[in-house]
Amino acid sequence: MAPMSTDVKVPMLDLAAQYRAIKDEIDEAVSRVIAGGAFVLGPEVAELERAVAGYCDAAHAVACGSGTDAILLALMALGVGPGDEVVCPSFTFYSTAGSVARLGATPIFADVDPETYLATAGTIREAAGRTKRLKAIIAVHLYGRMTDMGEMLELGRELGVPVVEDAAQAIGSRDAGGRRAAGCGAAGCLSFYPTKNLGGYGDGGMVTAADAGVTDRLSMLHMLGGRDKYHHLMLGFNSRLDALHAAVLNVKLRYLDRWNEQRRANAAHYDRAFAAAGAATSASPQPPEDFPLRTPAPAPAPAFHIYHQYVVRVPAELRDGLRGHLADRGIASDVYYPIPLHLQPCFEYLGWSRGDLPHSEAAADETLAIPVYPELSAEQRDHVTSSVIEFVESRAKTTAL
Ligand SMILES: *Cc1c(COP(=O)(O)O)cnc(C)c1O
Repeated sequence: MAPMSTDVKVPMLDLAAQYRAIKDEIDEAVSRVIAGGAFVLGPEVAELERAVAGYCDAAHAVACGSGTDAILLALMALGVGPGDEVVCPSFTFYSTAGSVARLGATPIFADVDPETYLATAGTIREAAGRTKRLKAIIAVHLYGRMTDMGEMLELGRELGVPVVEDAAQAIGSRDAGGRRAAGCGAAGCLSFYPTKNLGGYGDGGMVTAADAGVTDRLSMLHMLGGRDKYHHLMLGFNSRLDALHAAVLNVKLRYLDRWNEQRRANAAHYDRAFAAAGAATSASPQPPEDFPLRTPAPAPAPAFHIYHQYVVRVPAELRDGLRGHLADRGIASDVYYPIPLHLQPCFEYLGWSRGDLPHSEAAADETLAIPVYPELSAEQRDHVTSSVIEFVESRAKTTAL
């Protein structure tokens, strides 16, 4: 093994550093909630619902217990149930399709675009062609990049079904038409899981909605199915946001734009450094021969990519080597996601097999997320780029020989 060039450590995320930067405000907010004695819902949660709805250009928002619950609640409020079919991507986090299946409905998996790793109106349309009882579409804004919602909403209108946005990774992003994530579908699902761009200090989520009737059903469903205590109009469950989390999120929301800009600056730095070394973008169908690395496809304005993850692509046979090389140099990396949902054991009953969704399968085998969090120092960034470049150059030489 080559000697370590430096002792710089680079984790995937540094939440302690983030806390240090805003400690006084966070501590004050937490103490205020504890002294006030209202711990579930209450004014902090109402304030967060108003603020997030406004931030996302949505008319309404209902806070809930997690991003997973947000998807479940959105589908329930739109009437998805047993026997229905919902089209969603396979290359996404479990909860997108898990929520569909938990309602007794069937997820119909769409493939992704090989350049952006997003299910598009085109791939969703193809999957919808195989449905008989289509009830809804879930659009996922993976890695903090929005799929084109103009085209997706048009497709929804044509097929006569609502489009739910899984915006768990995308709060603050904009699509090719300048639309805000969670601000343009029939419902938008957000997660405040600690590692998301707007993360709390525990589980939390929110559903945005355009329609007052959908919002009314969401409010009942997440609070045991009623508007008043002990009057249950619907079969709801308990999925509420704690006031402590809301107070923390109300502070953090004020910093979100700054943090997203810092992520974008880190991503732009990576793009430049890797391009200078010979990388192509993922818009290129093949990795370059002398430097087999591809960087994220550009998302030109008015699109606004918030880089929840910065994901590079290498030939499958190089990925584990790259991960190991980075780990040896103190750099964390991760694979989002190693197994597409259509090949997960829990969805085996749906009868999919390898080869059915080739772009999702290739993305699962070839992509790697490297640290892009806002607090990265210039030294850490340079350590990441030089370590990646060192590995890719050495492997390109070995394969050429
Ligand atoms: C994180 C995430 C969820 C689920 O959110 P939780 O708050 O962890 O339940 C759903 N979809 C996507 C795409 C996610 O990244």
